[in-house]
Amino acid sequence: MSEFDLIRQHFTRATQHTHLGIGDDAALIKPSANMQLAISVDMLVAGTHFFADAAPYQLGWKALAVNLSDMAAMGANPKWATLAIALPAVNQPWLTEFSRGFFACADAFQVDLIGGDTTRGPLTISIQIIGEVPIGQAIERSGAQLDDEIWLSGHLGDAALALAHIQGHLTLTSEAFASCAQALHAPQPRVNLGLALVGLANSAIDISDGLLADLGHILQRSKLGASIYLANIPQSTHVKAALVAAQQKVRQGAASANHGDDQKILSMLLAGGDDYELCFTATAENHNKIMQLSQSLKLPLTCIGHITQGTRLAVHGLNDELLDFKEAGFDHFK
Ligand code: ADP
Ligand code: MG
Repeated sequence: MSEFDLIRQHFTRATQHTHLGIGDDAALIKPSANMQLAISVDMLVAGTHFFADAAPYQLGWKALAVNLSDMAAMGANPKWATLAIALPAVNQPWLTEFSRGFFACADAFQVDLIGGDTTRGPLTISIQIIGEVPIGQAIERSGAQLDDEIWLSGHLGDAALALAHIQGHLTLTSEAFASCAQALHAPQPRVNLGLALVGLANSAIDISDGLLADLGHILQRSKLGASIYLANIPQSTHVKAALVAAQQKVRQGAASANHGDDQKILSMLLAGGDDYELCFTATAENHNKIMQLSQSLKLPLTCIGHITQGTRLAVHGLNDELLDFKEAGFDHFK
């Protein structure tokens, strides 16, 4: 099979908002009136960002979904993508499944694949995404204001739990694993939320490296601090169950109990990556509007704290004690 047949068969689909797509030396697109382009690129290397034997459908979905999540964080509407892919060999069933997953995500969010590059090499996937945002309205990391409320979409920790199960660090029931694996392999980019936050949020970021690290980026760029409250951080039922189980084991002094098991789960919540929820800040005046948005999007939005003076990210524990990450074993995430 020639390179061109491969591109035609696996990557060429009808487009919705493109003047000239795959097949020429460059694609041609035209931004809508009064819109700015938002552009981002991501590279995924087998063995580093995903397992080389990862299911290709899930890989196709996730490779695009993580880019859409970046658009969501900016309040941008994703419209076009390019795909550069290095393949060790032409594996037709793999390509069929990969492109099925990729286009399932592209179709769900009306994104056109408008070009790319295909070469032989160690399995690597690089996707560039282009979106639109009203001129001057993009939500930037640097926009947080003193006393802003800090919000989170959905809940955190499931993706990290699934990964810990796969790596043998803990054991989930098959039901819990199936549900957590969805979060890990098929993240749902919060595009509609991002679009609705334009004009409502002062700053935003998507959680790819863990809440503490990513909220830390907002604080750094905004030159402010934050107080967040562990009790308010939305956990899935699986994370709650894992936390209770770990705490019980420690309390009962079970032989298999590892001191720090409960802290490992906490670290999944606060520092686990791959959740792709949005963390954003907004003035308290917008509190009710954001609660209404939560209802209309049928997506939990939870206020987890507020922006403070200074540069410190203070995490308040369940008894309002300040959590010390070094002592609590979080230092490897610092
Ligand atoms: P050129 O040699 O001019 O760079 P290529 O032979 O690399 O062109 O690609 C031919 C066409 O197919 C181009 O329009 C390119 O954008 C597109 N293309 C190549 N690989 C991919 C891919 N993996 N996904 C989508 N489009 C691709
Ligand atoms: Mg080329």
